[in-house]
Amino acid sequence: MISEYDLHCHSTASDGALTPSGLVEAAYKAGVKTLALTDHDTTGGVAEAEAAAAQYGIELVRAIELSLTWSGQCFHVVGLNIDPANAALRQGLQKTEAIRVERAKEMARKLGERGIEGAFEGARRIAGDGTITRTHFARYVVSQGRCSTLQEVFDRYLSRGKPAYVPTVWATLEEGIGWIRSAGGIGVLAHPMRHKLSASWMRRLLVAFKEAGGAGLEVVSGRGAPDAIQASAAYARSFGLMGSVGSDFHSAEHPWAALGRLDPLPKGITPVWSAWVDFLERRPGLNLMNTVGFSVTGD
Ligand code: AMP
Ligand code: MN
Ligand code: MN
Ligand code: MN
Repeated sequence: MISEYDLHCHSTASDGALTPSGLVEAAYKAGVKTLALTDHDTTGGVAEAEAAAAQYGIELVRAIELSLTWSGQCFHVVGLNIDPANAALRQGLQKTEAIRVERAKEMARKLGERGIEGAFEGARRIAGDGTITRTHFARYVVSQGRCSTLQEVFDRYLSRGKPAYVPTVWATLEEGIGWIRSAGGIGVLAHPMRHKLSASWMRRLLVAFKEAGGAGLEVVSGRGAPDAIQASAAYARSFGLMGSVGSDFHSAEHPWAALGRLDPLPKGITPVWSAWVDFLERRPGLNLMNTVGFSVTGD
């Protein structure tokens, strides 16, 4: 099923494979009408994506995916419909950038201990001007012939508990969601079921998320298990959170996360986009019952 909305994807401004304009073109060809560019801790690709979206006649939502720490663990919060020029956001992102660079140096040092030299410079070169992420380290290690897939690099070196993993303290939920709100945006907890939290930890997280000003849950995620939609929809209902849909597309090598290939939001979930646009007014030709997000069957 193709969704008109895809509110989570990555470009070369962070760890995606396509340039911002290449991504917009791919989304347009996939049938997406509203795309949010959510690069990791940067809005560096937004201007190019906006210009491309204007050419293709689709809507580009200015957005970001923040890395935040809660209870000692990293969680991702998507900020939708933000002003990239906002001063509080810019200051926060500058701090995060510094954290990422320090972490990258430490990751490279640890890889060096395992005989993989030059990883900082290598990852930096692959990342270009974009946010430096573990994906870039993984690409570098593959390019050196030390592993054959990105997955293997994560499994052997980069995942939590592995030799080159660097525990990182990111900004708090309060800080990160504060930047998003200062920038006029809406905080959405990304891929909530991917963390495999117990029900009681999930409830604690959602209480903290709401207290910090979060307003949405990524109910439909491209990388979720089949039962994840109903489970996260239940959390959205009981915590009064709006629902978002996003593929988390990074590259064509990840066919399980294709642009726009997303199920509709289940019945009774308020679409997050209703917070920034009266989409019936903006799309007068649409029939409410046929619109993604107002599925009457809920499947
Ligand atoms: P970072 O924000 O620097 O910690 O990098 C996290 C990124 O690494 C995620 O957004 C994914 O794109 C990627 N990633 C994490 N785990 C894996 C994995 N097991 N296989 C491939 N990519 C992964
Ligand atoms: Mn990523
Ligand atoms: Mn994420
Ligand atoms: Mn993502």
